[in-house]
Amino acid sequence: MEKVLKINIKTVNKLLSESVITSQALTEAALKRTEKFKNHNAFIAVTENVAKDQAVASENRFKENKILSELDGVPIAVKDNFCTKEVATTCASKMLQNFTPTYNATVVQRLLDSGAVLLGKSNLDQFAMGSGTVDSIYGPSKNVWGYQDDTNFHISGGSSGGSALAVTTGMVFGALGSDTGGSTRNPASYCGIVGLKPTYGLVSRWGLIPLVNSMDVPGILTRTVDDCVSVLNCVAGFDEKDSTSLQKSYRKIRLPPFNKMSIKGLKVGIPVEYYNEHLSSEIYEAWNEVANLLESEGATVEQVSMPYTEHSIVCYSILNQCEVASNMARYDGIEFGYRPTDPDIESTEKLFATSRSHAFNEVVRNRILTGNYFLLARNYEKHFNQALKVRRLISDDFHNVWEKVQILLTPTTLTTAPKYQDFVQKTNRDQCALQDYCTQPANMAGVPAVSVPIKLSKDGLPISLQLIGRNLSEPMLLAVAKYIESIVKFPHFINKLC
Ligand code: GLN
Repeated sequence: MEKVLKINIKTVNKLLSESVITSQALTEAALKRTEKFKNHNAFIAVTENVAKDQAVASENRFKENKILSELDGVPIAVKDNFCTKEVATTCASKMLQNFTPTYNATVVQRLLDSGAVLLGKSNLDQFAMGSGTVDSIYGPSKNVWGYQDDTNFHISGGSSGGSALAVTTGMVFGALGSDTGGSTRNPASYCGIVGLKPTYGLVSRWGLIPLVNSMDVPGILTRTVDDCVSVLNCVAGFDEKDSTSLQKSYRKIRLPPFNKMSIKGLKVGIPVEYYNEHLSSEIYEAWNEVANLLESEGATVEQVSMPYTEHSIVCYSILNQCEVASNMARYDGIEFGYRPTDPDIESTEKLFATSRSHAFNEVVRNRILTGNYFLLARNYEKHFNQALKVRRLISDDFHNVWEKVQILLTPTTLTTAPKYQDFVQKTNRDQCALQDYCTQPANMAGVPAVSVPIKLSKDGLPISLQLIGRNLSEPMLLAVAKYIESIVKFPHFINKLC
């Protein structure tokens, strides 16, 4: 049964439909896997009872021939910043440690309506602010690649590191992450799986606890591109509850088999600004190799320039902090969040202050303070408004480049997964400045991007590349991703397991 955990969603669906396996046995095997990799800390909570009940319901549907979709009976994970009805949703924070929503986020509801089995809530950086999954109150998520022991391991990436690990190890077939500046693609890259950041507005944000509303999107983590399509087809599409949801009906993506695909004539751009002094030589080589490969398969590959890329980190940082300052205002210990019980709290103001200083970590507090500073009447024009203008320039870089090419090929991250001990020496700001360099611009422009694992580095860590396309180009983006995936044949971690 364990072997089934490494196949793809379509095949699982076939095996379930032909009664070769059952939903309950599949969920049992997945739950066992969570035990096996327990100390890697992928999950904040394994929702064993929920999963078992859902598996029973799924099994009955298969018996009665009433299956809901190809995700019926398929174990999935949900990052713990998506609201889940009657299941605690903590954002890995003390502030929301006791928060149990009364409703499901739209994406969660759509997965459940498709019959997927919720295996658990996965670990993240507090409130998704980070790129390592290193500062959850539940401890860091430890990458399985290069793992020596609990003091000597590589980060899983972040902030959706728990989701990435759950997929990498075969605990689940797919997971939801969120992506504001790279949090789905970054851990996908470090863990050697596929990570999609869809077009802004294509997938509903309703019920995703906001970080930066103007950039947040639910992301999808899977082992294969086909699996990513299966999940995307289930969660994408207009949602009236999300005012930024695109009012266009979604057409399900169907990718042909690899042998029916061609990339002849595809125009691929290599943005020179994504070459950064911190880019590792091995990733640079992989980037060149894949560019050459695409060319040898009939694509035209040309260098393009996106001159405002280098301003993205600073600009993102300002906008992020401003939106964070405003979003976090709701956590006051009264309406939402941790309420201190100290007897000497004699005023409401003191209650707010104590609640926020006790229950937010330093990263969140810093972002709130800096954001409020940028938003002061005397600073607003100079910082916030200026950053919005730069954001427009970064976004225009993308619009201009689509006049020449259809897709961009870049690294996802500048290095392979850093060692935990080295990573945590840096401040959160410095961590993000380096880790998000290649991923943030797509969030600034709202365009879709996908990280695809390519090969292992000399020291056995995943190297991944990113494809970026114009708005709503997911069908083409994922087709090219599948094409590359089929040729490079990345040695998935899961293949080592059984
Ligand atoms: N590292 C970035 C930040 O901390 C991006 C986080 C994310 O995409 N959720 O803001």
